[in-house]
Amino acid sequence: VTYTGRYTADSRDQLLAKIEKQLKPARFAHVQRVEHTAVKLAKQYGVNVEKASIAGLVHDYAKQRPDEDFIEAIHHYQLDPDLVNWNNAIWHGLVGAELIKSELGIYDEEILDAVRYHTTGNRYMTTLAQIIYMADYIEPARDFDGVEQARLLTSQSLELAVAYQTKHTLMYLLENNQRIYPKTIDTYNAWVPQSG
Ligand code: GDP
Ligand code: FE
Ligand code: FE
Ligand code: FE
Repeated sequence: VTYTGRYTADSRDQLLAKIEKQLKPARFAHVQRVEHTAVKLAKQYGVNVEKASIAGLVHDYAKQRPDEDFIEAIHHYQLDPDLVNWNNAIWHGLVGAELIKSELGIYDEEILDAVRYHTTGNRYMTTLAQIIYMADYIEPARDFDGVEQARLLTSQSLELAVAYQTKHTLMYLLENNQRIYPKTIDTYNAWVPQSG
């Protein structure tokens, strides 16, 4: 994917170099697999492939930042104060998007929302956000019970795939006595039960 300059002043190689500095090698390899998966899905579903590439590469940009960076950003950007009661799993997307904006100069709100919602999902997700949510879940190195079903569903219907991931992640969190972030429940209610 060749970048046009619309969404980042960096070339893809320049963006890759900045991301590599932030991440351990295994995480850097993961984001490149998510990018590749997201670009394929973008072509299938008629989404801007440059946005899919950028969102895939940056989605875990903040994953290895210290907790203090997120606490500071929650205050500085006046995000929901309840966020301070959560942890890296919840912060790296929802708060990480602000670090991507300020440090990488990526201002496209659809890309930023795709990053924000890649972990918890959201009531409203653009097709790009659905693609990043699914690409993160099914990238080729993912190996868990149900990943083949998730890959098949993603190739057939993004909506059914989002519902599948949302339900299975919630079941996994419940099974392991994890705290459920409210947005995760909102996503479940929006995507999983039959409407009407
Ligand atoms: P990764 O960054 O590529 O490893 O993947 P994600 O960003 O999708 O997920 C990060 C972690 O957040 C995973 O372990 C999820 O199970 C976890 N997670 C997702 N939703 C919730 C939630 O509501 N509560 C908690 N405690 N963890 C969650
Ligand atoms: Fe993540
Ligand atoms: Fe995910
Ligand atoms: Fe990821």
